[in-house]
Amino acid sequence: MAKKTRKFGTETAKILQLVIHSLYTNKDIFLRELISNASDACDKLRFAAQSDAALLGDEPELKISLSVDKDKRTITIADNGIGMNEAELAENLGTIAKSGTQGFLEQLSGDKKQDLSLIGQFGVGFYSSFMVAEKVVVHSRKAGEGQGYVWESKGEGEYKIGEASNVSRGTSITLHLRADEDTYLDKFRLQHIVKTYSDHVATPVIFTDEEGKDEQFNSGTALWMRPKSEISDEQYQEFYKAIAHQIDEPFLRLHGKAEGVMEYNYLLFIPNTKPFDLFHPDRMRRVKLYVRRVFIAEEGVEIIPRYLRFLRGIVDSEDLPLNVSRETLQSNPLLERIRGSLTKKILSELKKKSEKDAENYEKFWNNFGAVLKEGLCESLENREQILEVCKFRSTESDNLTNLDEYIARAPEGQKEIYYLSGEDVAAMRESAQLEGFKKRGIEVLLFTDNVDDFWVQAGHEYKGKEFKSVTRSDIDLAGEGEETDAQDEKDNDDLVELFKKELGDKVKDVRISKKLESSPVCLTVAEGDMDIRMERFLREQQQLPHGSTKILEINPNHTLIKSIASAKANADIGDLINLLYDQALIQEGEKLGDIKGFSTRLAKFLEKALVA
Ligand code: ADP
Repeated sequence: MAKKTRKFGTETAKILQLVIHSLYTNKDIFLRELISNASDACDKLRFAAQSDAALLGDEPELKISLSVDKDKRTITIADNGIGMNEAELAENLGTIAKSGTQGFLEQLSGDKKQDLSLIGQFGVGFYSSFMVAEKVVVHSRKAGEGQGYVWESKGEGEYKIGEASNVSRGTSITLHLRADEDTYLDKFRLQHIVKTYSDHVATPVIFTDEEGKDEQFNSGTALWMRPKSEISDEQYQEFYKAIAHQIDEPFLRLHGKAEGVMEYNYLLFIPNTKPFDLFHPDRMRRVKLYVRRVFIAEEGVEIIPRYLRFLRGIVDSEDLPLNVSRETLQSNPLLERIRGSLTKKILSELKKKSEKDAENYEKFWNNFGAVLKEGLCESLENREQILEVCKFRSTESDNLTNLDEYIARAPEGQKEIYYLSGEDVAAMRESAQLEGFKKRGIEVLLFTDNVDDFWVQAGHEYKGKEFKSVTRSDIDLAGEGEETDAQDEKDNDDLVELFKKELGDKVKDVRISKKLESSPVCLTVAEGDMDIRMERFLREQQQLPHGSTKILEINPNHTLIKSIASAKANADIGDLINLLYDQALIQEGEKLGDIKGFSTRLAKFLEKALVA
């Protein structure tokens, strides 16, 4: 059959150009990428063979072979893994089908080193071969299928695919080196690269020299099974890079073994930077599950809870059954227990870190705090342990604080943990809602993540103290000695009536504030109603058709309110009350219901002020 010529998808073509022409920094990594793909292909076959042993045929030993041809100036990386058929070749190598492509292009910074590191992260690893090769030829035959195919491309916008004969199982990738890349024909150079980047790869990488002599380049044992004392920092770092596709030094490394009722090994990392796909629904969890050294799955099996999805690494169970489908595995109670015990372990490590290494912990928190807090919404399990490691902004200091510190600072007898939720810390610090708290020296936490509105809504408390929004209408900061006398009370009642009459059903109620100090008015919500920011968030997400009416709190000690009280009959009073109500809306970031009315009233007052 003649080879068909096809064009790369536009995204692919763009990335290819980038890879080839702008990202020339550390070209060695092409080999790491190709070996990593080959090793994944072996893992996939090993897994498939659990239910269909015939797939292994007469070649049950899985391996990755490396060879060079100095005359033709080619290097070949071959594996006898799962292989690809025609459609898969086109799909996997002809398009960057991965959802991350757009994200990749968006994140390009122009900083070559940084950009290059993104290649792995975004799943365009195969294309890195064009950094050193002017032509790449891929032969592949899928395990269990008879027909082999050849794919080739010069990386210039198009590729060819056709049938090929005598293709062995798996994939063989031949790189025709560019003019000045002869160093990659050198055995010792290749050996050094494999040792550096791929030593931990569990499948053996075997170099065959031109005389046909074999030599294994990597140690070929699963790194996580080796004792910690035998693993160098560099080896851990290389493993992290390969498994997490990250170039940073991880914030946290957790390597250990659980023994007893269930036995498993784990090697987990928390990155120091935010992976791009943290919120991508398809790539929620990136911890690989192995069962007795056989790779099972990376996605779709819940070995860690969603709210710990910033973890990268592996978990290798000794007890889970091997020959079941991923779906059955998912419902295996053992999996749930591993997840439970790992979660506790990770949370307790985070606690230690937050105590011992506050500076780095703060960085971690800024990267992943919002994700971790999803755990407070998902289940009540581990709630206290999660809250213990949460950090918050607060009115008391510019640094992050935790709940234990908040409680320790709170005056004796304070039963609540007060919070205000909003988008912008600077603006929140100036909020009228905080006036009474500031005056009395009561600390208020400033919640800035959307997720905060959700977890706190569930009526949570921490160590016996209830979370309470400062926008609640029942907040009464007036202590002893601040009681109002009977005459004041009568005046206040009149004032409330006046406001109610004027505002009608724009407000749910009007109340005398027990927390305002310098502002005349603010909006609050009744106990049991949704908090203001939460409601706005749901409205923006089209989850709520319209907002609820709020309670207007008025400050009887404010000059404006006093003058309203004393000049009840004045014709301007109605307009003033409406303006104050609009001001309260604006302060909360709410939309004005009647912009025209607002403008007319404002203009009227401004005119008076200027003319007078
Ligand atoms: P990634 O490996 O990050 O998904 P690549 O561009 O390196 O991205 O590879 C794209 C896809 O091509 C892989 O996901 C895999 O499905 C397929 N592939 C690449 N190399 C091999 C191989 N040696 N054997 C089988 N499939 C492969």
